[in-house]
Amino acid sequence: MPELSRLVAAPSVVNIGHGTLNTLSDILADPALCPGSRIVVIAGKNSSQEVTAQLRELVPDATWVTAENGTEEAAQILATELRTTGFDLVIGVGGGRILDIAKFVAAANQWPSIAIATNLAHDGLASPVSILDAQTGRTSVGVTPPVAVIVDLDLLKSTPPAMLSAGIGDILSNISAIADWELAHEATGETVDGVAVALARTAADTMLFHPGAVQDDDFLIALAESLVLSGIAMTMCGSSRPCSGACHEISHAIDQLFPEKSKPHGFQVGVGAVFASFLRGDQPTAQHLARALRQHAMPVLPEDLGLTTDEFIAAVVHAPSTRPGRYTILEHLDLSHEAIGEKVREFVQAFH
Ligand SMILES: [Zn+2]
Repeated sequence: MPELSRLVAAPSVVNIGHGTLNTLSDILADPALCPGSRIVVIAGKNSSQEVTAQLRELVPDATWVTAENGTEEAAQILATELRTTGFDLVIGVGGGRILDIAKFVAAANQWPSIAIATNLAHDGLASPVSILDAQTGRTSVGVTPPVAVIVDLDLLKSTPPAMLSAGIGDILSNISAIADWELAHEATGETVDGVAVALARTAADTMLFHPGAVQDDDFLIALAESLVLSGIAMTMCGSSRPCSGACHEISHAIDQLFPEKSKPHGFQVGVGAVFASFLRGDQPTAQHLARALRQHAMPVLPEDLGLTTDEFIAAVVHAPSTRPGRYTILEHLDLSHEAIGEKVREFVQAFH
């Protein structure tokens, strides 16, 4: 019997909606998802009373750890500390950073993890990548995606709108990342995974054309689902390729060169995606992306990120070195510092 399809690695459970935190009991009662009763909850120091109280009721015997520091070194120390006690499952509860630490700790110890999101700021919710702070900006570490993802809309009520809209930028940037991947295929013969592209593009198109706003339930559900789809797209091809191209290189460069000016990841990759599309000569896509970002009061231009034109130029020049081996429009054009300066100034003028 020939193999006619492939197995897709994805979370076994994705529960998005009102009150879905209560589904945690059923998940924990399933031995296929939770192989034992020794549970460690990793939360942030700013976790709301509401979520903490609810969770303590649902997992009264769990060990609680507050992750204060998002560096790779701190995550490694935490993973080693918890290994000496030994656990069966890690529950991460918080925003992107806490979920990334929880995924890292779980993967380092080969324990399963569950992600409970308290914001929707980036596509790490169900992804096989953990983004941690490093000495120079941020680093990406390959990990196992969570076995279950819970997005309880009731827990998002107190989330600042900016930490919800940032996720929109991360999803929209898929469009530019996919264009970079297709360009790499044409220019270097790199293999493109069509299924990963289908998932990542569907997620982005949902955000591109959804008329709603982060105040609406149906929009938040679409955003959470898009974040999950992006995560599965990355897991499917074993890399961040369908969701990360020049847009992300530019964002990493901003983090490295101007750490004191860093804005949420989704804000920076959104601007990066519009600029990369402009650079690609794809004006309709650049306009679509800019329109969608503005619909949600998101940054489009360097100045919206608090960067001067010269600072943004420096970031674009530095960008390719942040992700060696990734072929994008930046590596393809290989422009001089001067030529990049000209393009950035044209971009600023066109999108003002
Ligand atoms: Zn991203």
